[in-house]
Parts: sequence; structure tokens; C-alpha cells
Amino acid sequence: MTNGLRRRRIISDTSAMLPENFQPDEYFPHIARLISAGVSSFAAADSADQLEAARIEFLGDKRGYLLEFQKALGKLPPEARREAGRAFNEAKTRLTSAFEERRDALAGSSRATGPKLDLTMPARERWRGGKHPVTLVIDEIVAIFRELGFTVALGPESESEWYNFGSLNFPADHPAMDLHDTFYLGEGALLRTHTSPVQVRTLQKYPPPIRILAPGTVFRRDPFDASHAPAFAQLEGLAIDEGISFVDLKATLTTFARRFFGSSTKTRFRPSYFPFTEPSAEMDVECRLCGGVGCSACKGTGWMEIMGSGMVHPSVLEAAGIDSERYTGWAFGMGPGRIAMLRYGLPDIRLLYDSDVRFLSQVAE
Ligand SMILES: [Zn+2]
Repeated sequence: MTNGLRRRRIISDTSAMLPENFQPDEYFPHIARLISAGVSSFAAADSADQLEAARIEFLGDKRGYLLEFQKALGKLPPEARREAGRAFNEAKTRLTSAFEERRDALAGSSRATGPKLDLTMPARERWRGGKHPVTLVIDEIVAIFRELGFTVALGPESESEWYNFGSLNFPADHPAMDLHDTFYLGEGALLRTHTSPVQVRTLQKYPPPIRILAPGTVFRRDPFDASHAPAFAQLEGLAIDEGISFVDLKATLTTFARRFFGSSTKTRFRPSYFPFTEPSAEMDVECRLCGGVGCSACKGTGWMEIMGSGMVHPSVLEAAGIDSERYTGWAFGMGPGRIAMLRYGLPDIRLLYDSDVRFLSQVAE
């Protein structure tokens, strides 16, 4: 539509057109106005279609304005033709170049108004996901113990009471077996409260020597608060062979702690009690936050408990069909979630369960 208006305006500008019976000296001012009108018409064209219409109007082979001036050359007296011819050629050159200039500009801008493509922009990173902090910790622990000769063993998450408690030397009235502590599924089945049943299942299946790690999810009727969750990861280890003593336990677990937390990490073992080990010990590492001086994270003690451990109780070995006179062994259990909290300085265990990508992506590898 603007094209049509513009064309009408140019056509109505009759000063650029040569009158039917023009005087020889009128040729020059008219062709000057033609150049001016043509140059501005080409410059005003906003699209290839508009530009083509203007080209036909001014430079067209059949009815273009410039053609009229070419025909008019023949009507001029011979002495005026030379100068008029020069003016005509200049007009043709200027109009042609004005047309070509606009044509190239429109072609360039049509590229520019295509899909916005900035090759200097940094590439958008593809979200690949990442391992959960607890999985990262488990992977790292497994890698360290693998170098020490341990393999990974897995077991079912729904267990029988016997595997979960009976085979592990729990007395019949142990509070852990209370309905308030354990998710019972009925008919003697329950959600395992620890990964220890995997130890028994392994002992039943394979003869010593045995060195396994058993990572997995365990379930307890715990409140969901800053330091507890009803479902959480646990990782246990078991070593059974002839002649294994508490020295092996301390040496192996200390080696692990120094590999995991740093070569100068101090450890200590405190006497403890578990039904399935005797003697039993809690293992502490020097507080990562205060370096042993004492802070709120370690409750002023300078130590942080990372796992329970002990020599496997002879009753557990016998329950699994192992000769407890010939074989001895040690076991440990720890919470990878708790280790992840220590490693990443997490104040609240629920961060590990919220699935908040803003948090997880800070840790994911
Ligand atoms: Zn501390």
C-alpha cells in the first residue's frame, strides 16, 4: 500500500518528466529532477517488491522515465546532443547504482532479520543430570574399599524377621524390634532396618574368606527432621577370615578414614554395644569444621562419629553356618547421608531428600 502511494507521488511529480514539446535547455533541469526523484524512490523502498516497482518505473525497458529521456535525445538539435548525452549517461549511472545499493542493503537486512543467530554467544550447556550427593559418597567409599580387596554385595529391602533380627543375635525383646521402630509388612516380613541381613545372606552363600561392602536403603520409624529420615542409605562392611583380629579392624577403618577425609585425619574408637558384634566400637574422626578444638557441629567434643564397628559375634557366624572357632571377622556400618552432611557441610539431612535441583546441582558431578 505504501508502495502504491509512493508511486503515485512520484508520478504526480511531473516536474521530473519531460514535457511533450520541450525546449533544448529544459532537458538538463528535468533530468536532474529525475535523478533526485529516482534516488529517493529507491532509497525509500522497504522491500524487494517495492524496489522492483521503482526500478520498472525509472529504469524500465518499455515505459521507464529514463527511457523517455533517451528517446528525447534524438529530438535535440545536433549541437546539444553531446552534452545532453553526457547528462543522460550520468543519470543512468546514478540511478542504476542507487538501485543496486538499495538492493544489496535489503538483501543484507533480510539476512539480519532472519532467525537471530549470534555465533559469539556461549553455547547453552546441556543438562545431563548428576549423581546424588549420597550416591557420590557411596561410590567413593566403595572405590576406597575396593582397593582394599572388598566387593559389593546387595540384598532385598523387604526382609524376614529372622534375617533382620534373629540371625544377628538380637534378643527377642530388643527395642529395635518394637512396632514403633520398624515397618512391618505382615507375615514375618518387614522393611529392613539395616543392611546387616546382607552379611548373613553372603555368609550363607559364600565360604570365607569374605570381604564385602553392602550399601543400600534401610527403613525405620524415625521422624523426618533435621537429622533423621524414615528411609535412608546405609553402608556396611564385613571381613571374615582365619586369624582376623581387632587390629585389622582398626587398621582398615583408619586407612579408609585417611583416604576419605585426608591423610592427617585423626581417628579414635570408643567402646559401644551392638547385638551382632563383640567387642563393639564407635569410630570417630577429628571434627572437620573446628580441627578438634570443639564447635557446635561436634557439640564441643572435637570429634564426629562416623560409624559403628566391632568383631562379628560368634553367634552370628554360627547362625550363618560358619565355624566360629576357625573363623573370625569384623564389621562396620555407617550412614552415607551423614557422611555427605559432614563432607558438604549440610545443616539439615532433609536437603538430601527435597530433590531441589538448586541444591543438588551444587554438589552433582
Ligand atoms: Zn567441631
